[in-house]
Amino acid sequence: MKTFKTGATKWQNKHETFVENINNLYEIGNEHSMDALDGYNDTTKGLQLLIAEAVNAKLPLRALGAGWSWMKIATADGGLMFDTKPLNTIFDISNGSVDPKYKGDVTKLFFAQCGNGVWEIGKYLRDKNLSLKTSGASNGQTIAGLIATGAHGSAFDFGASQEFVVGLHIIVSPTRHIWLERKSAPVASASFIKNLQTELVQDDDLFNSALVSMGSFGIIHGVMIETEDLFLLEAYLRRMPYDDNLKKLMTTLDFSNANLPNGNERPYHFAVNINPYDMAGGVYVTTMYKRPYRTNYKRPVRNLNGVGPGDDAAVFVGKLTDALPALVPGLVNKLVAGAITPYEKVTGTLSEIFDNTTLYGKLLSAAIGISITSVDKVTEILFDLNKTNGPFVGLFAYRFIKKSNAKLAFTRFDFTCILELDAASSEKTKSFYTAVWARLEKEKIPFTFHWGKMNELNFTRIQNMYGKDADTWIASRNKLLDKESMKVFTNPILQQWGLDKVI
Ligand SMILES: Cc1cc2nc3c(=O)[nH]c(=O)nc-3n(C[C@H](O)[C@H](O)[C@H](O)COP(=O)(O)OP(=O)(O)OC[C@H]3O[C@@H](n4cnc5c(N)ncnc54)[C@H](O)[C@@H]3O)c2cc1C
Repeated sequence: MKTFKTGATKWQNKHETFVENINNLYEIGNEHSMDALDGYNDTTKGLQLLIAEAVNAKLPLRALGAGWSWMKIATADGGLMFDTKPLNTIFDISNGSVDPKYKGDVTKLFFAQCGNGVWEIGKYLRDKNLSLKTSGASNGQTIAGLIATGAHGSAFDFGASQEFVVGLHIIVSPTRHIWLERKSAPVASASFIKNLQTELVQDDDLFNSALVSMGSFGIIHGVMIETEDLFLLEAYLRRMPYDDNLKKLMTTLDFSNANLPNGNERPYHFAVNINPYDMAGGVYVTTMYKRPYRTNYKRPVRNLNGVGPGDDAAVFVGKLTDALPALVPGLVNKLVAGAITPYEKVTGTLSEIFDNTTLYGKLLSAAIGISITSVDKVTEILFDLNKTNGPFVGLFAYRFIKKSNAKLAFTRFDFTCILELDAASSEKTKSFYTAVWARLEKEKIPFTFHWGKMNELNFTRIQNMYGKDADTWIASRNKLLDKESMKVFTNPILQQWGLDKVI
C-alpha cells in the first residue's frame, strides 16, 4: 500500500462546520503495479500496519470517507486520519466466489473496496446494465462512509443503503481481519475467503451491528453488495396543498386513494418539502416511479440554481445566511423560489437522478427518524416552535424509509419518516434544534438521530431510542475488537455517546 504522510495537523469537514486538531492525515493508495487482487490484499496488510502504528503510538485512528458528515465521526482529537477515497477497486463476482446456499442472483453481486464513491459505483454498474437499489439524495459519499451512518434516500419499500450489503471485509486489529456475513444468509464461498486470505465469521448479530458502525468497528476494507437490473425513475415535483389527503399519505404511506402524478400508483420514492413561510402556495411533493430501463429517454438536466431531480435541500440551503427575524420569511421565500422549480416526468437512472456532488457553502443539517404515525403531530410542533423559538432559517423536509435490520440504524420504525431540518449555519439554528428535541421528549414522541448529521446524543438518549439493540451493538464491538484496537477506534464522540463501553 502506498502511504503519504501529509503532516496536516488540522482537518475540516466538507461543510466547514468544525475544524479538528489531528496528529496527521495519511493519503493512501493501492499498489497499481500489482493485479487487482494482489493489490487489494497488499492494502489489507498496509491497513493492518496502520492500526499497529496507532496502537504503538497510543493514538486514535479514523478512516475518512468523503468527509460529508456534520458530526466528528470521521476524525479524532489529536488522532490519525487516513483518506480512503483512492481505495476504489471493484471486483466482479463469479459463481465460484459464492456459497452454494446463497439465495440471491449471483450475476447481481459485486465487491467494492471501501473508498469507491457512490457515483463511481453507479458508473461501473451502468456498464453492466445494473443499478444500486437505493442511494442518498446526493452521491459524493464513499460506499463505506455511506453505510457507516445508515444513509438513506426515500425508497420506502426498500430501505436505507446498508440494506443492500450482504458481506463485510473488516480489519479488526493489526493481526486479524475477517469476512463477516449473516449466518442466516451466507454469501461467500471458501475460495472467496481464500482469495482475500481472510477468516470467515458468520453471525447475524455481529453483522447487523457492524453495518452502521460510525467508523468504530475497525476498518471496513470491502463490501459485498446486491444490485438489481438497471431501471429508470420517472420523477415529478409538484406543489400541492398541505391538506388532509396529503397528511394521510404521509402518515400511512397508503397510496390506494392518492392523487399524485400517476394517480394511486405506489411510488418508489416520495418526499415532501415544507417552506413554513409560504404554505398558501402549497408544499413541494416529489414522487418517483420505477420504470424498466430503455435507451430512448431524455437525460435529466441539472438545475444549476438549486434543486434538481433527486436533490435534497442540503445542496442549496448553504446559500442562506442568518438574518434579522423579521427578514427570515422573505429570505427563505426568495431562495426557495429561485432554487425549487417544479418539473414533470423527468426520467433518469438512479445515479442520474441522485447525482449531486456539489456542495454550496456552510449549512447545518439535522435529521431525525420518527414513526410515520407521528408525522402530523411533529409538524404541528415545528410550526409552534417556529413561533416561539424561530424563525427557523430553513425548510422542513420529509422522506420515508422501511425498517432496517442494522442494530443502530436510525431507520428503526416499521416505516420511518426522516424529518430533515436543513438551515443556515448559526447559533440560532442550533438552539432551534435543541428546542425541537426537548419538545419531542416532553411530548413522549419516540425519535432517533441521523449519526452523521447534527445531533445531541448521549447514552441515556441512545438507550431510550435503541434499547437492547444498543447493548447488542456494544457487545458485538467488544467481541470483534481486542482491547488495544478498541482504544484505537474510540474517539471523543463515541465516548460522549457512551458507545465505547468495555465489557
Ligand atoms: C450534500 C449532502 C447530502 C446528503 N444527503 C444525505 C441523504 O440523502 N441521506 C442521508 O442519510 N445522509 C445524507 N447526507 C449525510 C451523509 O450521507 C452521511 O454523513 C455519510 O455518512 C457521509 O459519507 P462520507 O463518505 O462522507 O463519510 P464520512 O463523513 O467521511 O465518514 C462517515 C463515517 O464513516 C466512517 N468510515 C468511512 N470509511 C470507512 C471505512 N473504510 N472503514 C470504517 N469506517 C469508515 C468514518 O470514520 C465516519 O465514522 C448528506 C450529506 C451532504 C453533505
